Amino acid sequence: MNQTIQNQLHYLSQKYNEYNLPMYLSYPVDSHWRQPADESAIAQELKEIEEAQVYVHVPFCKSICYYCCCDRVLSGKDEDKDQYIDALEQELALKLSGRSRKLKSGNLHWGGGTPAYLNERQIERLYGIIARYVDFEDNARIKLEAYPDKQIVTEGKLRLLKTLGFNYISFGIQDFDARVLNAIHRECDLEDTREIIGLARSMGFTVNVDLCYGLPFQGLGEFERTLQEIVRIAPDKIVAFPYAHYPAIYPLQRKIPHLSLPNNYMVSRLFELARQYLSTDYTEMGSDTFIRNNGREKHPGTHVVRDFMGSSERSSQHLLGLGKSAVSKIGRLYYKNVPAMDRYCSALDSGRFPIETGKTHLLSGEDAIREDVILKQLLGGNPIDKQMLQECFGIDFDSYFQEELSVLRGMEKDGLLLGVDSPRITVTPTGTYFIRAIAHVFDPYYKSTRNGENSI
Ligand code: SF4
Repeated sequence: MNQTIQNQLHYLSQKYNEYNLPMYLSYPVDSHWRQPADESAIAQELKEIEEAQVYVHVPFCKSICYYCCCDRVLSGKDEDKDQYIDALEQELALKLSGRSRKLKSGNLHWGGGTPAYLNERQIERLYGIIARYVDFEDNARIKLEAYPDKQIVTEGKLRLLKTLGFNYISFGIQDFDARVLNAIHRECDLEDTREIIGLARSMGFTVNVDLCYGLPFQGLGEFERTLQEIVRIAPDKIVAFPYAHYPAIYPLQRKIPHLSLPNNYMVSRLFELARQYLSTDYTEMGSDTFIRNNGREKHPGTHVVRDFMGSSERSSQHLLGLGKSAVSKIGRLYYKNVPAMDRYCSALDSGRFPIETGKTHLLSGEDAIREDVILKQLLGGNPIDKQMLQECFGIDFDSYFQEELSVLRGMEKDGLLLGVDSPRITVTPTGTYFIRAIAHVFDPYYKSTRNGENSI
């Protein structure tokens, strides 16, 4: 990176990057879902939809990482996991047993937590329960999140997963540097990682790796060594996401010394380094994802959308979330399950949907337009196409987004955007470092955010 570009990035990082900009896994982000749930309407919708992506939340972890924003439970006890699978079975029965035929799905995702922390008997049982209610398409993506720990991901477990039909495995690496890992209370052994990923690949799994930049004590040298190893390991897909520091919401993050965090400029440089290292063998997808050229994962071109599973190929418009804290989106309705284990289980014991009170949001007409701009166009890595928005939503973009356009013109002057007053607004390579800052211009909920309230 030459000095002029470094200076420009330095200036723009001061101007545009803030730690608490949302990650935009949904629009609006879940901290702004405030409507009561209409359970009978939800039950009716679940009877009528033909197909959906299915997300199953398995919250158990062997130890808890300080940087983590996920809903997780520290427990290795088999009886805790068995009871949770009982609850998932109740939830599936409650949501899907009233249908005349099974739900179809092209996408099953077990996320967490650490779903690979279930034992083989539990994995087989949980998969069997889901398959009672869901029919998977022939080419369905059946995916599980894992931790690169040989005690958690054993050869026997990988073989079982493959036999059941899992074809995709995602490993949370984040960084290999000992000081960085120590500061976030996480272990990730390079040799174990190489071995486990090699085994998974040899069995035919498509392999995804998550990296995190902006972690405590992470500098260019530390991250460069991690990137070098990752390029050698050669996963099919890499997601490089920025660390989200929200200590007001996630108290364990207070254990991370504030002064150990790289500043906004360094965070941009770390992402730039990732792009540089991955540019030869990988093609970018959306705002944070890299697909290996000629790997097992195919780049979906412009059909990318952002959702709770990250940047992925546009598939179903419905997402059925199962498990505590899981999010569903059926048509235009978002809703979130209760995060507390006891309340999740007791709702199911009494035959009620375990939906968190006031954690529902029905997209208004205006929300749907803004969701399209933020999640499909900006975060999907596509230009904002004014003509397409007019055809889909019947709006004249320039009048509808008059206020936003005046902010975007400033961003165009700063080199983040091109063609603000033309039919297609394009994000420049410099602008991609500030994509969430550009997206938040279209987010009126963000302006009403109270201090510390924001979410991913
Ligand atoms: S980062 Fe993963 S392994 Fe660590 S606490 Fe969170 S869910 Fe568990």
